[in-house]
Amino acid sequence: MSNKRFSLALHGGAGAKPGHDYSVEIAHMRGLIEAARERLAAGASALDVAVETVVGLEASGLYIAGKGASPNAAGEYELDASLMDGASLKAGSVAALQGFKSPILAARAVMEQTPHVMLAGQGAIDFARAQGLETVEDPQSWFTQAGAFEDNHPPEALPTGTVGCVVRDNEGRLAAATSTAGVFGKLPGRVGDSPIIGAGAWADGHAAVSCTGQGEYFIRTAVGVQIAHRMRFGGESLEAAAQAAIQGVADLGGHGGLVSVDREGNVAMPFASSGLKRAALLLDGTVISEAF
Ligand code: ASP
Repeated sequence: MSNKRFSLALHGGAGAKPGHDYSVEIAHMRGLIEAARERLAAGASALDVAVETVVGLEASGLYIAGKGASPNAAGEYELDASLMDGASLKAGSVAALQGFKSPILAARAVMEQTPHVMLAGQGAIDFARAQGLETVEDPQSWFTQAGAFEDNHPPEALPTGTVGCVVRDNEGRLAAATSTAGVFGKLPGRVGDSPIIGAGAWADGHAAVSCTGQGEYFIRTAVGVQIAHRMRFGGESLEAAAQAAIQGVADLGGHGGLVSVDREGNVAMPFASSGLKRAALLLDGTVISEAF
């Protein structure tokens, strides 16, 4: 079925392991794509679909976001998330959020219920609680990755991956959303690119971008906004701009990948890493799903 007017891409993080069986993740991503297709066909906004898709990725426990979160070096679960609505340039973000099931819903509440873009640490926790967002009462039994470091599991044996989604809706609006527990073994208080608007997520009238990988490099090269500005001020295509931005990360010695969509509905999903779990619904209705 051709949809002509909407498209989206999602990711389950950089760092797919060669030879690993990702059939569960692929099936899950395809399910989210089909749910998003129905919503977009019915006229849902890019922002709503990006958030709903990331909520689904967070809840799955298959990635290092939401339920699948891994602890930091102190054994605590500090989660980051952000979203941006390209039509209004409104954005919301939480950093080092502890004790909530869906950081992306907290980020959305920051955008919609406060005059701010970003809340961090205890302030984010107090705000999310006041919003009545669903809490995690016992992190050790709820998070999939609880005890991972205590048990000395080698990192390669653990699920990996920030999650994210970018959408172009029926009316040409763009939106991006990203959610993560961050990199393995991070220091307490470390904040990566995922909650940084312009780095791990960006959406304007030109492009929507959600990133994954070593966040420090994505912050230093402002990958999200860089892609949109390459298009806006340099006349580059989405494909060329996304590829150049990822190359910039690689040139600094970093690795990672991204998903992106432009206002025409084109999709680009480049990576410079050991792999990327990703899926997309293209304008012609084709579904792509890959983890390699
Ligand atoms: N970019 C995330 C961070 O640096 C990690 C990831 O994508 O896996 O926090």
